[in-house]
Amino acid sequence: KKITIAIDGFSSTGKSTLAKQLAKHLGYVYVDTGAMYRAVTFYAMQNGYVSEEHLNKEALINDLPNINLQFQFNDNLGFAEMYVNGKNVEKEIRTLDVSRCVSQVAEISEVRSKLVASQQEMGKNKAIVMDGRDIGTVVFPEAELKIFMNSSAQTRAERRFNELIEKGQHVTYEEVLQNVQERDYIDTHREDSPLVKADDAIEIDNSAMSKQEQFDLVMDLVGE
Ligand code: C5P
Repeated sequence: KKITIAIDGFSSTGKSTLAKQLAKHLGYVYVDTGAMYRAVTFYAMQNGYVSEEHLNKEALINDLPNINLQFQFNDNLGFAEMYVNGKNVEKEIRTLDVSRCVSQVAEISEVRSKLVASQQEMGKNKAIVMDGRDIGTVVFPEAELKIFMNSSAQTRAERRFNELIEKGQHVTYEEVLQNVQERDYIDTHREDSPLVKADDAIEIDNSAMSKQEQFDLVMDLVGE
C-alpha cells in the first residue's frame, strides 16, 4: 500500500538523510521542501531584494509568479536537484548566506501558499516522503505516517558544521550554531504555520542514535 510519509523537525536534525534513505528503499519520491524555500531565497538575493539584514518583501511577493521551481532527478547522485527558472541551484542554496535569510523568506504567507500548493500537487498520488517544517500539520495533515525529529542544538550545529566544511565552505562552529538557533526561533515563532509537532506525529530524538537505528525504527513504523 502506497502511503505519504511526512517528516518534520528542527533545522539539521537529519531529516533529509533519513527521508532520502526511506524513499530509495521504498521506491518513493523524495521531496525536500527546505530546498524550495532556499531556492526562493536565493532568487530574492540574486534579484536585489535582500540587502544587509533587510528583505524587500513587497518586491519579492510581486515577483513570485515569475519564480518557476522544479526538481530534476540526478541519476548519479540518486536524488532530485533544485532548479529555478531552468538553472540548477543545488549548490548555491546550501550556503550559510542563504541559511541566514531563508527563515525570513519562509515567514511570508504568499511564499508559503505558493510552495504548499505545489507540494500538495507533487504528493497527490502518494508514494512520497516529504520533509520540512509543516508537512504533517499543513501540507499533508492526512499523511499516514508522521515523524517529528529533534536533537540538541549543539549536536545539530556540529553535524551541519561538518557538512559545510566537507563542502569546502569557510565557516566557524559558532556561526553555524548561532544560525541553527536563530532559525529555530524564527521557525517556531512565525505567525503563518509555525514549526510545531503534529498531535499524531511520532517524535524521534536522535541525539544518540545512528542513521541505521533511525531508519530501522521508521521502517518498523512503515510496516514493511
Ligand atoms: O530544511 P532546511 O533547513 O533546508 O530549510 C530551510 C528553511 O526553510 C527552514 O529553516 C525554514 O525556515 C524554512 N522551511 C519552512 N517550511 C518548510 C521547509 C523549510 O518554513 N516546509
